[in-house]
Amino acid sequence: MAEGGAMPEDGARREGMEVAQRSEGARGAGMERMEVARGAGMEVAQRPGADRGEPGLRVLVNARLATLAGGDGPRRGRAMRDVGLVEDGVVVIRGESIAFAGPRAEAERLGWLAGGRRLRDAAAAGMAGGGAAADGEGGEGSGPGGIDILDVGGRLVTPGLVDPHTHLVHAGSREDELAQKLAGVPYLQILRRGGGILSTVRATRAASEEELVAKARRTLARMLEHGTTTVEAKSGYGLDAETELKQLRVMRRLNEVQPVEVVPTFLGPHAVPPEYRDRTGAFLDEMVAVAARARAEGLAEFADIFCEAGVFSVEESRRFLSACRRLGLGVKIHADEIHPLGGAELAAELGAVTVDHAVASTRDGLRRCADAGVIAVLLPGTTWNLGHARHADARFLMDEAGAAVALATDYNPGSCPCESLQLVMAFAANLLRMTPEEILCAVTRNAAYAAGRGRTVGRLEPGWQADVVVWDTDSLAYIPYHFGVNHVHMVFKRGRQVVIRRTGEEGRA
Ligand SMILES: [Zn+2]
Repeated sequence: MAEGGAMPEDGARREGMEVAQRSEGARGAGMERMEVARGAGMEVAQRPGADRGEPGLRVLVNARLATLAGGDGPRRGRAMRDVGLVEDGVVVIRGESIAFAGPRAEAERLGWLAGGRRLRDAAAAGMAGGGAAADGEGGEGSGPGGIDILDVGGRLVTPGLVDPHTHLVHAGSREDELAQKLAGVPYLQILRRGGGILSTVRATRAASEEELVAKARRTLARMLEHGTTTVEAKSGYGLDAETELKQLRVMRRLNEVQPVEVVPTFLGPHAVPPEYRDRTGAFLDEMVAVAARARAEGLAEFADIFCEAGVFSVEESRRFLSACRRLGLGVKIHADEIHPLGGAELAAELGAVTVDHAVASTRDGLRRCADAGVIAVLLPGTTWNLGHARHADARFLMDEAGAAVALATDYNPGSCPCESLQLVMAFAANLLRMTPEEILCAVTRNAAYAAGRGRTVGRLEPGWQADVVVWDTDSLAYIPYHFGVNHVHMVFKRGRQVVIRRTGEEGRA
């Protein structure tokens, strides 16, 4: 995949520190400071937890907002087209949260703009931002007491993207399987030959916790550069107690050392390991025991299974997921990715939070999911990468079943080695025939609910976490239209500016 901007490769970002230290003066404030970063040739001034001071008060002005705000729950069917567009909008970030997101006139009335009452109050309360205020280019002037007022130049501003289905933590890569794929060997046949998932299992079992943390950090840094601020992550490359719990501990560690929030899912039954060949029942008993340990240690929020022909049957999936639900875990299911086994029907029956893939599902199964409030997590990067002719029927899900649809990368070393939700947004337009508005809803608000974070992220609304992306375009359609490059201009996570990219006229062509 072509990426935008030749960024310093992992060398600079591996530790993060180098970039962070050199660009200390470049972070934390507005345009003027960004020029410092540009002058230094810095493509990305990004480091987990970038500006180190406590996040204060930031006011983004001259923004074209898509707030996704209002009401409760994921948006379903046609309601997904309402992204809450606000022309000439303002976002106020106070500490880690959104304090205001709406039209400039309302912000003015409420005292959030220069000279306004709320800014004076915040200044008096010591809510100053990361340093001296920038002189807003749009005549905003500085807020009192060093409050950052940032003129974003009419750019599109959205919630941080949420990736609700990834296989983040693993060792190794599988480019050696590309030749087999191109020769027409089916994905499930590579798995049967001991390749595919099982090859990553061998590498992940052999890797240390530190190695897995280091690799996943690099992945998360790349996701963050592309606008993703929250990810759901699955275990499933251990298939034994020790390695599965190791993967889940790595996720917990990741939440301590870098800014992207990782939501942990236990996917022990991702494949049947060789040592349990023809003893699937015994393997699932073992995995239920691991799920209980993961739950008891607070290492997992969801349980998941690969329900597929030749992997786990519907009956086996029902048994495993029911047991996990009794343990108090939320339920997800890899359903009908390749064959129409009845995974969607099972997701509806169990009241799963999500039904994932759902490419070959029956229409009846999809309808039942919609009726049961199960969110369909669609993964068009995977069907594209596997060269499949059939993609999930997003139009049926939204137009006829009235389902809530979310989109995810499925980031994994086999069927979709790609961190960019932006590329998935392009696939959603071209392969799933989704509109730009539906796509945005599917990678923000709906994705947040799919990851169990609908009450904290996924929208620009007072009280929600200040996860914000400033795009280098004023057009929502431009993102899926101009594919294969990175359109992110800035990213804020929990109120902290964590990404600044050097963008300019070339990005807005
Ligand atoms: Zn998956």
